[in-house]
Amino acid sequence: MAATRAADTARVQCAAVSKLYFRYAAMNAGKSTALLQAAYNYEERGMQVRMFTAAHDDRAGSGVVASRLGLARAAETFGPDTVFDAAWLAESPAAPVACLLIDEAQFLTPEQVRQLHRLAHVHDVPVLCYGLRSDFRGDAFPGAAALLTLADDLEEMKTICACGRKASMNLRVDDQGRRVNEGEQVVIGGNERYRAVCPGCFYSDDDTDPARAPGLFG
Ligand SMILES: [Zn+2]
Repeated sequence: MAATRAADTARVQCAAVSKLYFRYAAMNAGKSTALLQAAYNYEERGMQVRMFTAAHDDRAGSGVVASRLGLARAAETFGPDTVFDAAWLAESPAAPVACLLIDEAQFLTPEQVRQLHRLAHVHDVPVLCYGLRSDFRGDAFPGAAALLTLADDLEEMKTICACGRKASMNLRVDDQGRRVNEGEQVVIGGNERYRAVCPGCFYSDDDTDPARAPGLFG
């Protein structure tokens, strides 16, 4: 009997454990739209969420998650010094927190990803992260690499290259539309823009004029 109760307890505890989710994609795949939809789904059921975006992402103004479809909401921001630990959670103004939603999750540090994984599994808070997998050189963002390593649930969100194939890479282009192949992984306040392309288009200009890359159409 005692053994059965112990087994039941273990099962209940396991069933209550939440997950760390990583929804990754190239640029413009609708990650922010999906995040806002997830927040809405929780709130529609009377549950509270906390939304975050990277502090240095100022495309939509600081502390805003903005969808290309026109939706936008205020969000908290995280920087490299943000600590997502149990004490932080306990002080949450939105207690109990039904879910943490994190946009631009590629800018998390590996340590923050570890903290979020711990919050999900030890403190039973689901954490949904949305972000890029690789930068304009095809290298992993450290936060994305950590998420790909630790997340319990991975899903690639699809978007389409100008050539019609699935886009999984990101090109950086300057304000003239020319491809940029060198530079810092993150340029704060720069004029660079990005285009989602398939791997074929990503490599197609290796030996040609960068401005002719097929992925630069449109
Ligand atoms: Zn392509």
